[in-house]
Amino acid sequence: MIYSQSVLLIDLNALKENYLFLKQTAPNSICAAVVKNNAYGLGIERVVPALREVGCNDFFVALAVEGERVRSVAPQANIYVLQGIGDDSVKLFQDNKLIPVISTPAMFKFWMKNKIDGIKPVLNIETGLNRLGFRKKDVMALTEDEKKEFSYLLSHLACADEPYHFMNRHQIKEFDEMKKMLPNLKSTLSASDGVFLGENFQKDMVRLGAAMYGLNTAPDRQNKMKAVVHLKAPVLQIANVSDGEYIGYGASYKTKKEMKIAIVSIGYADGLPRSLMGRGRVFFLDQEIRLIGRLSMDNLMCDVTDVKGLKEGMFVDVLNNHYTADDMGADAGTIGYEILNGVCKSGRVQIIEKK
Ligand SMILES: *Cc1c(COP(=O)(O)O)cnc(C)c1O
Repeated sequence: MIYSQSVLLIDLNALKENYLFLKQTAPNSICAAVVKNNAYGLGIERVVPALREVGCNDFFVALAVEGERVRSVAPQANIYVLQGIGDDSVKLFQDNKLIPVISTPAMFKFWMKNKIDGIKPVLNIETGLNRLGFRKKDVMALTEDEKKEFSYLLSHLACADEPYHFMNRHQIKEFDEMKKMLPNLKSTLSASDGVFLGENFQKDMVRLGAAMYGLNTAPDRQNKMKAVVHLKAPVLQIANVSDGEYIGYGASYKTKKEMKIAIVSIGYADGLPRSLMGRGRVFFLDQEIRLIGRLSMDNLMCDVTDVKGLKEGMFVDVLNNHYTADDMGADAGTIGYEILNGVCKSGRVQIIEKK
């Protein structure tokens, strides 16, 4: 057989298990799923129904256009929109009963003129990340009636992947202080990583993203999550090269002995970072295979001199349980989030749901 397209297997059972594991870790909180960015690349229409099967009824997206897609597969769910509401999205909010997260006084004014029946927005407050949110003075300027507009108080942690970081203590203190000004609101502070900081941080609702998709959100800990994506790429050619030959663009790699190389049909156009050159690895069964030379648009080359059993037409593992998106991120000088995003977004890999 001859194959040329890479295959991304998505394991929805692993996704569900991860969700349920995180739910066990935060048993007293609502576990919302963050499905922004097309569910981190895995596909809103595939991920949302799977999560509904395990009882998830609260979803976060970044944009109203994403919210519309969630609504089409989750007619009853609560759908929160992190980047909020504005002139460009108010119709989508109305048509799909989306819940805005309001982060600025100007956006709150806009909301008061464009309120949607039956919808209570979320108030995002700034506690240390300095990304988005009402400052303390903005909260203090709210009237008692205005405070009644909101359902939840939300903030986002900067360093929750480092359990002992001073910022966690700082942000929860800020959060709890501002919460006193809004005693009737429910609270949501933590994303995936914050869930592991304990009940204090879990509040009424947690917002699960990366960990649910199998990424390790606490690098100093063994990853407890199951891998959700497995990426395989076909070997197009296996070739013998002699001592002193050059491999790939720029002739950056010179062989020091006779070698057997495999040319694999996957490259940076499929979302692999070019910075993997010199450090990347793929796998065949348990055998680790080093990338050699530069990664090109459609191909990578690797050293299979000592690899047993690999033949043209077979697939190598590019991401699996043992070499995860986090590991590749570490090899490439980035993070697992970006690897997942790149691979899923390329549009070139064949996506198959693992049964
Ligand atoms: C993206 C995002 C999340 C999810 O974060 P993960 O690290 O992927 O769990 C939660 N809350 C906010 C505000 C976000 O922007």
